[in-house]
Amino acid sequence: MDIKINKLSSFIEGLKKPLIIAGPCSAETNEQIISTAKELKKNSINIFRAGIWKPRTRPNSFEGVGNIGLQWLNNVQKEVGLKVMTEVANAKHVEQVLKHDIDMIWIGARTTVNPFAVQEIADALRGVDIPVFIKNPINPDMRLWLGAIERLSNVGCESLVAVHRGFFSYGAKKYRNLPHWQLPVELKRIIPNIPIICDPSHIAGSRDLIQSVSQKAIDLNFDGLMIETHIDPDNALSDKNQQITPSFLNNLLSELVVRHKSIDDKDFALSLEELRTKIDTLDNDLINTLMNRMNIAELIGKHKKENDVTILQPLRWKYILENRTSNGIDSGLSKEFMTLLLRAIHEESINIQTGVMNNKKRK
Ligand code: PEP
Ligand code: MN
Repeated sequence: MDIKINKLSSFIEGLKKPLIIAGPCSAETNEQIISTAKELKKNSINIFRAGIWKPRTRPNSFEGVGNIGLQWLNNVQKEVGLKVMTEVANAKHVEQVLKHDIDMIWIGARTTVNPFAVQEIADALRGVDIPVFIKNPINPDMRLWLGAIERLSNVGCESLVAVHRGFFSYGAKKYRNLPHWQLPVELKRIIPNIPIICDPSHIAGSRDLIQSVSQKAIDLNFDGLMIETHIDPDNALSDKNQQITPSFLNNLLSELVVRHKSIDDKDFALSLEELRTKIDTLDNDLINTLMNRMNIAELIGKHKKENDVTILQPLRWKYILENRTSNGIDSGLSKEFMTLLLRAIHEESINIQTGVMNNKKRK
């Protein structure tokens, strides 16, 4: 996809990698903002985040301090010397942010889901050169995320960064928002030149998981992290379980292993090439095996048709799922992977047999 990405305004380019953005979920008071920013500055953080308009899922929770927070962010710029960013959810927010010379903005997950809101923000940004960070939508819909990036690109915004903050899913779970790492990886494949950072705070939802999520993002070659940091997390007015103190952040960053994106080493390149060739061969074998399996599924489809038997045989499917999953686990593959794989294979077999029943030719 052809999205023009500028080198991201010079101050981002000049910063050390990975890019670290930190600051509270919400601006609460001027003192809280200034003291958090001062601590972060000591940790060599250059970009400070704080939400002042908070889109909350339900009313009657803290919805942000509003416009006054822009002056507090200006104080952070002047008194502490950090670049500042906040969330915008409509054109009015954009107008206020630009009036107050806020350095950067982000579009939240609850806004990315809404093309009207994103378009309104984009229109308000036409001709303005401000970095815009675009969070993934709440639901794992790649096209909505891409659409938001395109809308901003279409009005001439060239300093665009994607932010992976995880995806909502119903029911109790380890993460507040499931990471679904394959989505940001896919985004990077579709728009290779867009920088992408991870927001481990909203993925984790709790302090203890932030380190491992951050490490995973850095291992996947993400360009940076946005981490919610509060001077007194236990008393934060929003997202208190996932906010960490500046000193916790300092520890986290010192333990983060940042690996080379690539290295100029002949031996490394050679052995990598060798292993990749093996993977290429195995992938071809996999495709052949799957093809053979689908051909047999087609024969079974014909057999069922001739004998007027339904496609879905629940007991057989139950047996396959249980038996293959347990074989897979015995071979060291995870249950999650086996389930996903078998579901995909089964779905394709059913599609093929449905085609047989309806006299459709396979491509
Ligand atoms: C936030 O960054 O505080 C926020 C509201 O994030 P998200 O849009 O990812 O939920
Ligand atoms: Mn938050």
